[in-house]
Amino acid sequence: MQSGIVALIATGGTIAGTAERSDDHVGYRAAQLGAEALVAAVPPLAGRAIEVETLVQLDSCHMDHATWLRLRERVAAQLARPEVAGVVVTHGTDTLEETAYFLHRTLAAPKPVVLTAAMRAATALSADGPQNLLDAVTLAAADGACGVLVAFGGQVFAGSELRKVHGWRLQAFSAGDAGVLGTLADGTLARWREWPAQELHPAAAALPAAERWPQVEIVTSHAGASGVVIDALMAAGVRGIVVAGTGNGSVHEAIDQAARRAERAGVVVRRASRCQLGGVVGQRPGALPSAGALTAPQARIELMLDLIAAAAGRD
Ligand code: ASP
Repeated sequence: MQSGIVALIATGGTIAGTAERSDDHVGYRAAQLGAEALVAAVPPLAGRAIEVETLVQLDSCHMDHATWLRLRERVAAQLARPEVAGVVVTHGTDTLEETAYFLHRTLAAPKPVVLTAAMRAATALSADGPQNLLDAVTLAAADGACGVLVAFGGQVFAGSELRKVHGWRLQAFSAGDAGVLGTLADGTLARWREWPAQELHPAAAALPAAERWPQVEIVTSHAGASGVVIDALMAAGVRGIVVAGTGNGSVHEAIDQAARRAERAGVVVRRASRCQLGGVVGQRPGALPSAGALTAPQARIELMLDLIAAAAGRD
């Protein structure tokens, strides 16, 4: 265990959600409690050196790029303080994997940046948030820990590998084939793999204001697909499209043809899979460029960063 302050930044989510009834797991309102209330609900945190701030109160399904930039700035400021051992970010589960991936690619984390969340509201009979928060603080203060991490359900994930695989079960997350980094049980961290290595995206050196980020959208391939979504996106002026293909990144011919039209018009297209696990393996000759192991939401972030870097190179 490392001594030092843990800085907690709250952003909302179900972990901060409340319901009228303790058995209501659906009709609750996310993002009602601030950071102080989250900490107060975890008696073992009493007396721990924790500094708290409530950055936003968002249901994370509404997460936006401007909030990502503000969060990144606040986390970076806390990491820069020598007395801070690590940072905890409380967040909704819906876009947790996207925020984790964005931070992993754009924020140097020589100390732990631990995201956590909950599937059940703070008022639920068996709320999972308090234990997840306690685990996150333990991880943020762990000696030698570093990188963008996620503490959830007694497991430690690399932020870059996280994906939400279930809509309502308590164990809603997976690290895909990579497996979890470790476990947190009864306040003890057991680690099975190295802390995640970080290679920052070149765009991280100078991210523009959110309103200047290139628009990149995800289009899902499916039976009976047509090119209308891609054509509409082109008309709207998107700069990039991630096609979430079926299986190992196969794409309905109507979407493929529309994607080729988009490419000819200068839109950058990447091909991921709508499957949560496995990514896209290999590159079939003539197929749209593969996003590799990235999930479609991760591929969208990566493509935005690529386009930002390319635009900076042209300036
Ligand atoms: N809609 C919520 C959110 O992402 C779900 C959750 O946190 O579990 O903020």
